[in-house]
Amino acid sequence: MSLRIAVGGFLHESHSFAPRPTTYADFLQPGGLPPFSAGADLIEAIRPRSVPLAGAIAVAEAAGVDLVPLAWGFANPAGPVQDEAFERIAARICAPLSVALDEGPLDGVYLDLHGAAVVESFPDAEGELLRRVRAIVGDAMPLTISLDPHANLTEQMVRLSDAVVPFRTYPHVDMKDAGAQAMRLLLGRIERGRPWVRAFRTLDFWIPIGSQCTLMPPMQPVMTERAALADRLGAVELAFCFGFPYADFAGCGPAIAAFADTQARADAAADALLACVNAQEASFVQDTLPSARAVAEARRLAVGANRPVVLADTQDNPGGGGHGDTTELLAELVRQGAKGAVVCLINDAESVALCVAAGAGATVDLSLGGKSDGMPFACRARVEKLTDGVFTLTGPMGAGNPGNLGDTALLDIEGVRVVATSRKMQALDQAILRHVGIEPAECSIIALKSSVHFRADFGPIAEQVIVAIAPGPVVADPAVLNFRHVRAEVRRRPRVA
Ligand SMILES: [Zn+2]
Repeated sequence: MSLRIAVGGFLHESHSFAPRPTTYADFLQPGGLPPFSAGADLIEAIRPRSVPLAGAIAVAEAAGVDLVPLAWGFANPAGPVQDEAFERIAARICAPLSVALDEGPLDGVYLDLHGAAVVESFPDAEGELLRRVRAIVGDAMPLTISLDPHANLTEQMVRLSDAVVPFRTYPHVDMKDAGAQAMRLLLGRIERGRPWVRAFRTLDFWIPIGSQCTLMPPMQPVMTERAALADRLGAVELAFCFGFPYADFAGCGPAIAAFADTQARADAAADALLACVNAQEASFVQDTLPSARAVAEARRLAVGANRPVVLADTQDNPGGGGHGDTTELLAELVRQGAKGAVVCLINDAESVALCVAAGAGATVDLSLGGKSDGMPFACRARVEKLTDGVFTLTGPMGAGNPGNLGDTALLDIEGVRVVATSRKMQALDQAILRHVGIEPAECSIIALKSSVHFRADFGPIAEQVIVAIAPGPVVADPAVLNFRHVRAEVRRRPRVA
């Protein structure tokens, strides 16, 4: 008889100081990932997408598993998730799980979780969701989860899971692999009939987002060593979560979990990886430039270059809780006369509505962007093109995922072009620009609302990448934020010079 396994997911990365809270509606129609799905439609909806659950589905189906679909929902990073949103999604995961148990024996549960969600009433949101799931299925039920490595992994999450599998990459190009591995471990856990033992360790310093990139040192060699240690020390899973340093709760920070046959093996693997990361502590520092110098440097490099210079507007990254609408970098490009530069993107539904009313070809006076921080850019813009904002992602992270930015306008402001959108998403995929008719490789300067993910798709076409510091909540140095609950030993030693 085939195994019967329940699958679902809840994914959010919550920034305690972001300008907007996260609502239920934000889960229904996110900008660059599939919309909320549940029940009978779930498997079909997720199978073709670049998300962890799709990798888990592929492994389960190849093994002839009978899948029980629960619910799956993702919302773009923003402020903490409102209680109502969490309760509605948790109910859509837990109720069908209860029904599934009434209908017959269940062999296991897999959940596709992010790991950095903060809910108004539950700072460790994934821990709370796992507690509710365990309350329904019992402590003995095999249960594995995949995670985003930005997870703030907690002891509760590790204790309630038979294995946790974070992606190994940032940019996240192995999301499906992590889901697939979590499902393989679930099948292994079912077959062996008893849990692995585990070890959990937390680090005593923050790793700023910009220096978590696995394409370069120090994180690249750390992740190579992680894989080698897991092999050498016999851990079935050696999970390293880099942490999301904007969540104001006690569990915020990097953490390690090891799963193995014996406590000695789990402890040895966790301690060896902990020592490896600790040895790199002073290296987790990122090169950045303030926006005026970043634009000047980009203009200098663009002369004579035949590939675009990329400016990363890291602090307003919609993938880290930014609203994608701050304007300092745009204003600086216009002020310095960076004709031919493209800004991707400014999230401002009000301004786009004015452009739609005026029509393509019209000239409009706008108070563009700045809705999240009260600092819009007053400008006269020509509406070059209008679109419905619907496209399909093509880059290494999101190929096949639906993009939906709502009504979108391509604007020309004194020779600087701007993609103005009605919804936010991180500027991590060249398809955003192609869908408004811009070929990224032909641009002189491209300013992107992204911290690291852009490197997967834009890195290969970039002459050079400059990380610019402009206003926004995704601060390069998390220690500037007014944390109240983060452990003092984590807060005490920020790693940005
Ligand atoms: Zn992430």
